[in-house]
Amino acid sequence: SPRIGVLALQGDYERHATALEEAGAHPSLVKTAEALTDLDGLILPGGESTTMLKFLDRNSLFDALQGFTRHKPVFGTCAGAILLARQVSHPAQRSLGILDIAVERNAYGDQRDSAILTLDAEIPPATGPEPVECVFIRAPRIASVGSDVKVLASRDGFPVLIEQGHTMAATFHPELSADRRIHNRFVSLVKSAKISQ
Ligand code: GLN
Repeated sequence: SPRIGVLALQGDYERHATALEEAGAHPSLVKTAEALTDLDGLILPGGESTTMLKFLDRNSLFDALQGFTRHKPVFGTCAGAILLARQVSHPAQRSLGILDIAVERNAYGDQRDSAILTLDAEIPPATGPEPVECVFIRAPRIASVGSDVKVLASRDGFPVLIEQGHTMAATFHPELSADRRIHNRFVSLVKSAKISQ
């Protein structure tokens, strides 16, 4: 089974590790650049992206992650999606620039701040829309996507689940739902990237 790391500096990494196990991968927690060696893929979890950036700098992980994500599959959820974006606003901050998306942080105000919604998603291998539970927690909004980005699900017309090549991002927390279709999809992207190397 593919070895998939979960960045474990801050945020919701334990639940991602469990979800990866359920999706047939071998998870490991990543706290240092050395821990990236020999991994086939990586998840950047939700949490607080400004805090994560601080930890990335402290552990010299920013450059290491940029190198890793250029060649290997990565899946960013919520704060993790913010870290992967090309551009971050509200407020602006540095990012890895791996995904051709512009994100606006904390884009849903007040009551809409956090919500559990059932949205239609087209998650391969499914070839049509199917309902999926999406847990949003102080979620960012993907304000725009580049032409190479495939939108798998949207909320109010804004993408919430996307793929670009072997990179994935969700503005919600798939690890908090029992459904494993999204982690299964990432594991299959990791497997096909591994074969083509
Ligand atoms: N609001 C957080 C941020 O801007 C993201 C929230 C989350 O990951 N659940 O980093």
